[in-house]
Amino acid sequence: MLIAHLDADCFYVSAERVRNSFLRGKPVGVIGNQGACVIAKSYEMKAAGIGTGDPIWEAVKKCPEGIYIKRDFRWYEVVSREMLALVRERSPLVEYYSIDEFFMSVDVADPQAFAEATRDAILRRAGVPVTIGIARTRTLAKLVSDLAKPFGALALIGADAEKELLKSRPVHDVTGIAKRSAAKLAEYGIRTCWDLAKAPPALVRRILTVVGERLCYELQGHRCVPIRPNRPPHKIIGRGGSIGQPTDDPAVQWAWAIRNLERLIEAMELNGLTAGRLTLILEYKDGRVASDSATFMAPTCRYDLMLDAVRGLWTRLLLPGRLYRMHYLASDLQYPGARQLCLFDTPPKRDPRTVEREINERFGRFMLRSAATLAIPEIYADDAHSYEICDIQGKTCF
Ligand SMILES: [Mg+2]
Repeated sequence: MLIAHLDADCFYVSAERVRNSFLRGKPVGVIGNQGACVIAKSYEMKAAGIGTGDPIWEAVKKCPEGIYIKRDFRWYEVVSREMLALVRERSPLVEYYSIDEFFMSVDVADPQAFAEATRDAILRRAGVPVTIGIARTRTLAKLVSDLAKPFGALALIGADAEKELLKSRPVHDVTGIAKRSAAKLAEYGIRTCWDLAKAPPALVRRILTVVGERLCYELQGHRCVPIRPNRPPHKIIGRGGSIGQPTDDPAVQWAWAIRNLERLIEAMELNGLTAGRLTLILEYKDGRVASDSATFMAPTCRYDLMLDAVRGLWTRLLLPGRLYRMHYLASDLQYPGARQLCLFDTPPKRDPRTVEREINERFGRFMLRSAATLAIPEIYADDAHSYEICDIQGKTCF
């Protein structure tokens, strides 16, 4: 059995081109929710020197003829599901790694033909160009697809071909080896992927723990990281991020606290989880950060109980100054019913939140919400906020 890694080429831009052919062949940038940064760019825009994360005002200077489009994850997910459906027809074991990346098992006589046929079928059906790399392990397959981009299809088979690939790539090209880990490896003379594959696993384990050792075996062609057709259980659920324009207006700050709490509870309910602990992190424009946690008597996802915790944290943490970002982290997660009820459990009841959820399921997200969020009407008026990209596994940053 072999493993294929499929990765769409400049996916957000390609997805926009599916529904608007005018964009084909032109420099296109997709910008984030607040409209400040380029979060994806076409190859034409990349050629103009624009990188992911560049602020829009710099991008416009470098590429004034560029077309800048606000992100629409709802649409990107539609295209993503189309790709997933096709991939599932062709492989019995598929991992939905992120919105535009899949791993799958390949058990065919001619893997090169399989890679090309799958790539072409996705272009025909979903309308987006993808690159497919096939190799003995997923770590190798990812390196192969990176090499074959864009619109590539490559099955890399045989010891010589693998050796050549590994020798040509620096070790930080391996997913899971960040620049810092690469620096540590360099102290031991491990610079290329080939060096890592040939290094004594025990040494790699000492430098990078078992996670690094696993990668070492993967590069040698031993499958250690399996394809996971189901998502592993959450350890933490987080919601938050930038609050747009930094502000010292208490009403706006509190509105964001409530909005993000409602988003957090929504995510917990979606995953059927309760939290034993809630952490709040507040970041200020001048660089100060304040954070603290609250523990619940019994794990919960109830709005009233979590709101009490947030009020306590808010009073303790709020500093004078312009708030810039905030995050909630729900941890000590448990599935209700996975443990014995205790004395402190709040009895299940039809609380106001249940009614709210039923109304919103019927009429739209946040149609009914806390009045505290009235201080940020522009966020609710903007359709781009009606969707959570975090729910698409793997891509949590944008
Ligand atoms: Mg991609």
